[in-house]
Amino acid sequence: MPPSSPGSSLPSLTRRQLVRLLAAAGFGAPFASRLVADEAPKGAKTATVPENKVVPPTPRDRYPATLVNGKVIQPQRPLAVLHETDVLVVGGGPAGFAAAVAAARTGAKTTLVERYGYLGGLWTGGLVLLVYPTHATENGVLTKVVRGIGDELLGRIAKFASGATNYNEGRRDPTTDPELTKLVMDEMVAEAGVKMLFHCWVADVVMDGNSVRGVVLESKAGRQAVLAKVVVDASGDGDVFAAAGAEYEQRLHAIGLVHRVGNADRTDLAKLKAAGFKSLGSVEPLASVKWVNLRGPSTDGLDVGELSRLEMEHRRTIWKRVQQLQQTPGGENVFWLQTAPQLGVRITRLLAATKQLTNAEARAYTKFPDTIGVGGTYGSGGKNPGWPIPYGALVPKKVDNVLAAGRCICVDTKLVEDMRLIATCLITGHAAGAAAGLAVQSRCRPRDVAIPQLQQLLRRQGAYLG
Ligand SMILES: Cc1cc2nc3c(=O)[nH]c(=O)nc-3n(C[C@H](O)[C@H](O)[C@H](O)COP(=O)(O)OP(=O)(O)OC[C@H]3O[C@@H](n4cnc5c(N)ncnc54)[C@H](O)[C@@H]3O)c2cc1C
Repeated sequence: MPPSSPGSSLPSLTRRQLVRLLAAAGFGAPFASRLVADEAPKGAKTATVPENKVVPPTPRDRYPATLVNGKVIQPQRPLAVLHETDVLVVGGGPAGFAAAVAAARTGAKTTLVERYGYLGGLWTGGLVLLVYPTHATENGVLTKVVRGIGDELLGRIAKFASGATNYNEGRRDPTTDPELTKLVMDEMVAEAGVKMLFHCWVADVVMDGNSVRGVVLESKAGRQAVLAKVVVDASGDGDVFAAAGAEYEQRLHAIGLVHRVGNADRTDLAKLKAAGFKSLGSVEPLASVKWVNLRGPSTDGLDVGELSRLEMEHRRTIWKRVQQLQQTPGGENVFWLQTAPQLGVRITRLLAATKQLTNAEARAYTKFPDTIGVGGTYGSGGKNPGWPIPYGALVPKKVDNVLAAGRCICVDTKLVEDMRLIATCLITGHAAGAAAGLAVQSRCRPRDVAIPQLQQLLRRQGAYLG
């Protein structure tokens, strides 16, 4: 990893402080002591556990499904409650990250559950590294619309020498380094006091009548429950609201797979262009690396058969392209650095919310009494006005105690392309988290939060509401 700049945020913490922060945020003693043990000078005494030691097995509940008359039947079974919290955020992508930090900053006990071992979702795991649209033209002036938690995150990433393009120059739409992005996200959730649960896949919900009271998650420990006062569904695919029985719309969309090539600075672009290669890939903070987008076919991102097929098909396509590059004069030094650990699923489920935001409303700059943020404009280079986003687009029509955030909120077909972008997901995530925290504080359902209070809270947390 490249060295951080003197002003970067991580090195300002001592190792002891970082370990304490991570432990306080629920990363747990094993993580903390491991960090110290791995980094301790040779010969220093550390409390180590001998490797490969036999220990008593952790008890695991066993309620296997059985075959009854040719049907697979799952028995009714009690579930251990792993944890209880005020606000539970499902999914640690841009939306879930912002939601968790916003909720925790209201003072709510907040837990963030993520199926993989890092934060950032498609941004870091899908290697979709260009964050846009961060700006819109408001009253003729180019204005940053991603403020508050999203802006703080981008600013902190940009403090690293190779953290981000554009940001330090005050320009729009930075591209960030994926590893530094994950690191700063870890740091910010830890500082906010969010309890982090990685490697947990939310498989179902806990319902009390019409209200979501928590989730059922799967991990290496088996099935366990987490109970919560309010849940934010930032899974991207609406896994929580769908399991809760909320109305939604299902869509097919292009599914791609991003990869990165190395030695980008050891190519002869003029020769490559002459041979028909339009571009090596998109710019990254490190000159030696480029990320390469792939649109892919429009298909069902909830179908594991399709997802499995595309993983293999796209990898073959990528290898072909890399080989072509390597065999073309000017591209001999290029190598295939990495394929994204996460397939590029753009859109699957969209919540049917109390308000569907339409493209016509967005283009007319329709202001809503419950505006919770302003989105930037896709494809216009930030030259168009933004579009106010109503809170109603995050609130299910009927099911209670759950809010949507990120790429599964309620918009019409034409607005999907703007709504799903990272910058906008940071904005809707921030709003959902603040609203969840406020609902806990006010002891009310998320749909009943006082809008002026929510808007005041968001402004206090730095958000831009137009
Ligand atoms: C190929 C491609 C190219 C793109 N290009 C750009 C671009 O250039 N610029 C841009 O701004 N945007 C781009 N996007 C869009 C953008 O990356 C995503 O829409 C955005 O990251 C969505 O954020 P999110 O937080 O809503 O969801 P995600 O980023 O999808 O995050 C959801 C998180 O939830 C977790 N999760 C999901 N289900 C569960 C579960 N059941 N239990 C636990 N955890 C779960 C996931 O692991 C993930 O971390 C692109 C998308 C794709 C696919």
